Amino acid sequence: MPLIKGIPVAPGLVLGPAHVVRARPDVVPIWTIPRAALEAEVARLGNAVREAGRRLERQREVIAALASEEEAGILAVHRMILEDPGALTEVERRIREDRVNAETAVQHLIDDLCAKLGKLEGANVRRYAADVSEPWRVVLDVLLQRDQEELGAGEDPVVLAAAELTPQVVTCLPRERILAIVTEAGGRFSHGAVLARAFGLPCVVGLTNLLARLEQGMPVLVDGDAGTLQPRPDPAAITEFEERLRQREAREKVLRSVASLPAVTPDGHRLEVMVNLESTRDLETFDIGHCDGTGLLRTEFLYMERNTFPSEEEQYRLYRRMIDGMQGKPLTIRTLDIGGDKQLPYFHAPAEENPQLGWRGLRVTLEWQDLLRVQLRALLRASAHGPLRLLLPMVSSIDEITAVHTIFEGLRAQLLDQGYEIAEDVPVGTMIEVPSTLWILEEILEEVDFVSVGSNDLTQYLLAVDRDNSFVAKHYDPQHPAVLRALASVARAANAAGKPCAVCGEVAGDIAMALVLLGMGYDSVSVAPFFLSGLRFAVRETPFEECRRLAQRAVACRSAAVVRELLSEARSRLHEGLATGETGSA
Ligand code: PEP
Ligand code: MG
Repeated sequence: MPLIKGIPVAPGLVLGPAHVVRARPDVVPIWTIPRAALEAEVARLGNAVREAGRRLERQREVIAALASEEEAGILAVHRMILEDPGALTEVERRIREDRVNAETAVQHLIDDLCAKLGKLEGANVRRYAADVSEPWRVVLDVLLQRDQEELGAGEDPVVLAAAELTPQVVTCLPRERILAIVTEAGGRFSHGAVLARAFGLPCVVGLTNLLARLEQGMPVLVDGDAGTLQPRPDPAAITEFEERLRQREAREKVLRSVASLPAVTPDGHRLEVMVNLESTRDLETFDIGHCDGTGLLRTEFLYMERNTFPSEEEQYRLYRRMIDGMQGKPLTIRTLDIGGDKQLPYFHAPAEENPQLGWRGLRVTLEWQDLLRVQLRALLRASAHGPLRLLLPMVSSIDEITAVHTIFEGLRAQLLDQGYEIAEDVPVGTMIEVPSTLWILEEILEEVDFVSVGSNDLTQYLLAVDRDNSFVAKHYDPQHPAVLRALASVARAANAAGKPCAVCGEVAGDIAMALVLLGMGYDSVSVAPFFLSGLRFAVRETPFEECRRLAQRAVACRSAAVVRELLSEARSRLHEGLATGETGSA
């Protein structure tokens, strides 16, 4: 059977039997209730609501035990939704007045909720609609006696296959019975995705038409690294899988041995290996000892998970928690970078023809300055509790930087006046991700304490390729010589100005590219937690002179294809060391 390609959400390789959690059918059986049996039907509904409440509570306990109380919060909210007397009265009324079965009355309520909330704009609001109706779907499952016999079957661990990646799917079986999770729908930042990562379960979403292609118990091969699923793998694929698994285990053993060691080349050059975070929950998914700090906290995701703007006090508490979690290591907080593909459900930005070139990042917050002020006040207050740095997104001119400086200094004075404690030094840096900044680097470096290259956007804007448009995906290439030369010029300018420079885009997660960046003169890289130890290993294996030569050769390449060849040689050498466990630094 052909390989199905999806979106990788959590890494890992797994071979096991599929356990298909069937999509809930749209149609529920309808029948008329005799007048004399109406109260018994209402009582049946009441029992089902109570049982659904118990199921949700059991799920909440599982999540609280395996992840955190915060993760479990959504299930507590689901239970509260069920306790709302308004909705229950409405369902009871329908049973009595329409003389229909409880299933039909509950389905009506779900349809009403979805119709009302589904009319609102924005993917996150629609997800909220799904959240509000979810507990009533559990009631429907109880009434229809769905799920239980299906999920309880067998004892062996399974690959859970479902239509959507909801918290219910992730928790419907004990953690030890789930090998991996694969779904048709779901994004990288859905609640379910966050849980899968927190539970350490390999997970792939966006697998088109998945359920139609699987049967109960069918062997499947899940590759959470690449984001693929192979139904019914043939013997050759299984042999290859077993070999990859062996290599992976050997690699992980080596990586574990260097995870807490500094990323220093054998000849003594250090690369700071920082982590990119999106939420406080991310802190629980890796060992803080494996990073040198947070190079990028994308605060927009803290805003996206809510239904209103967070207040100064809420943000202050959040940033404090992040600072505490960092255990004395620096935390770089980027101001809200909404716009483009990142929208807030409660902030109605005008529809744009070309959002990636539109109202994004600082362009929004410098216009809606209250947003920026609240965030900067929270951040300045949090700075009293640990090393904190401020990073500005989507900067395209000096004027934007000076505007922020004026606001920032004004707020600092105001907070000191109000008696707050603030760190004396909160370094301010800008993202280098809009090509215009490449030509005004000297001036920018006079204004800021550090720069961090957002290679995801820099690639998109330099090459004129929308990073989210699958039609042009093959043209999106961070290894294009133009991108490499831009990266080199930033490091050169920052080194000349004596200011630290970093790369926090995805490109830095590649072990060969990280060596190129070190060779170019970057002081630090910031990557998703999964890549931290790989980078430490690569740096510890490679003398700085070799990194320099690699960087020079990469920058001189005529085309991306030649760059790729060069980097794949460097990567193969490192992979060999990882596979054999024979490391120069060991
Ligand atoms: C980038 O553009 O490379 C970056 C790190 O920021 P984001 O991916 O959040 O736009
Ligand atoms: Mg960016």
